[in-house]
Amino acid sequence: MPLFGPPNIAQLEAKRDIQGLIKALSYRDPEIKIAAADALGPLGDPMAVEPLTALIRDEDPGVRRAAVRALSARGGVRVVEPLIAALQDHDPDVRSVAAQAVYRRMMTDPDQDARRETATALGRIKAADAVESLLRAIMDPDETVRVASVRSLASIGDVAAVGPLIVMLAHEQHRARASGRSSLAVERAAGQALDVLCDEKAVDALQTALGHDDVEVREMAIKRLARIDSPMVAEMLEAHLDDQDSIIRRSAARGLAEIGWEPPSDETGAHYWAALRDWRRCAECGTAAIPLLVAAFPRSQTHERSDIQAALVALNWQPSELDATAASFWAAQGNWDKCVEIGAPAVAVLDDIVKSAPGWRERVAAAAALKALGEERPAPFARLDLVQHALGVLDGEGADDEKRATLTSFLAEEHQFEPAGNQQVDWCQCGYPSTRILPDDTRELITDLLGFEQDGSNEPAYFCPSCDAPLPAAGT
Ligand SMILES: [Zn+2]
Repeated sequence: MPLFGPPNIAQLEAKRDIQGLIKALSYRDPEIKIAAADALGPLGDPMAVEPLTALIRDEDPGVRRAAVRALSARGGVRVVEPLIAALQDHDPDVRSVAAQAVYRRMMTDPDQDARRETATALGRIKAADAVESLLRAIMDPDETVRVASVRSLASIGDVAAVGPLIVMLAHEQHRARASGRSSLAVERAAGQALDVLCDEKAVDALQTALGHDDVEVREMAIKRLARIDSPMVAEMLEAHLDDQDSIIRRSAARGLAEIGWEPPSDETGAHYWAALRDWRRCAECGTAAIPLLVAAFPRSQTHERSDIQAALVALNWQPSELDATAASFWAAQGNWDKCVEIGAPAVAVLDDIVKSAPGWRERVAAAAALKALGEERPAPFARLDLVQHALGVLDGEGADDEKRATLTSFLAEEHQFEPAGNQQVDWCQCGYPSTRILPDDTRELITDLLGFEQDGSNEPAYFCPSCDAPLPAAGT
C-alpha cells in the first residue's frame, strides 16, 4: 500500500482506471473497499470478478454487501458461486442483498448458462426461499434452464411446486401435439420431480389442481392423487366419480380400483361402474343407475348401446319423453312403431341406423320407419318397397320352392327380370333373389332389390338385405 494517503475512488472511477480500483479493493479501510466495489460493479470488467469474489469472505458485512452488489451488477456464470455463498452468510443483511441478487437478478440473467447454474446451485443448497423464482424459471425459454429449475424444485421439496409442475407438463404435451415438438428432458424431469413431491403433503395441492380449467391438468392431478396412500384420497376420488368430464370420472374410478376400493351397491357404485363403462354392474346398483344409463345412451357407440339398453331393460325403464334418446332406445329394441310415434326427433336416429347399422335387416326396418314418417331416402335401397316385399315373402310361411315361385313371378311383374327373354333368377345363399342370368349366361345383380354402399368415386358395393352377404358386382 502506498504511504501517501488513501486512493481517490472518484478520480479512479472518472478515469475508468480498473487496475487502480481493483487495487483499492485490498485497501484496509472498509469505506474505500465499499466505494471501489460500487465503482467497479457497473463497469463489469472480467478482471474484477476474482478480487470481488475474495471480498465475499471479508470480515466487514458492509464490504460483503458491496461485493454482492458489484458481482450481481456484472452477472454471468462466474458470479453464480460467490453469490450463492453469500446466500448462506451469517449476517442477515448480507443474506438479504444476496437473495435479491440471486432470485431477481441471476434468475433473469441474459446468459442462459448463468441462469442454469444459478438454478442448479439453489437446488444444491435447498434454498427454500428460491421456490418462487424457480417456478418462474420452469417456463424459461432455454430447455436446460427449465430442466435445472425442475430438478432443484424437487430437491427443495416444497409442495407449492406440484400444481405449477403439472401445468407445465400439460403445456409441454399441448406443445407436442400442436408442433410435434416437445422437450422430453423437461417432461422426464417434471415427472420425476412429481414422483418425489407427490406424497401425503401434496394432497391439498393436487386437490387445487383438480379445479384447473385444463382437463389434462385435472387428469394428471387425479392420477397423481390416486397413487398417494392416504384415507383422504379415496374420499376425494369418490367425489370426482360424477365429474362433468368423462376422462376425470374414468381416472378417478381407475384410481379407486388401484387402491383396492370396494364399490358400494348404491349411487356411488353406479357412478363408479358408469365411469368404467361397465353397464351391467352399473345397473346392479339399482335405480340410481337409470339417469347415468340414460345419459350415456345417446353418446355411446353402437356396440355399447346394446349393453346400456339391456341394463335399462333389466331395470324396467321405459322412455317417458318423445325424444332422440327414446328413439335410440326403441330402435335398439327393434320397436320401430315407437320410433314412428316419436316423429321428428327420431329422424336423425333412424338415418344413422340406415347408414351404418351392421345388420342390413335393421337398416331396412329403419328405412321403413323413415318412409312412414314421410322421409324416404334414395339410399341405401333403390326400391325399398321391393326389398320389403321380397323379405316378406322370404320370411313368410311355405316351402322354399313355393317362395321361389312367388318371388319369381313378383319379379317378373315388377320387370326385374324378363322370363320371355329367357332370363333366369339366381339366389343368394339365404334364398333371397339377388341376380338375373341373361341368355348368354352373363350375370347381373338385381340392384333394385339389394342394399348398397357407395364411398366417393368407386362403384357401389352391394349386399344381401336378408343375410348381409356382400355380392360380387357382375360377371359370368
Ligand atoms: Zn342372402
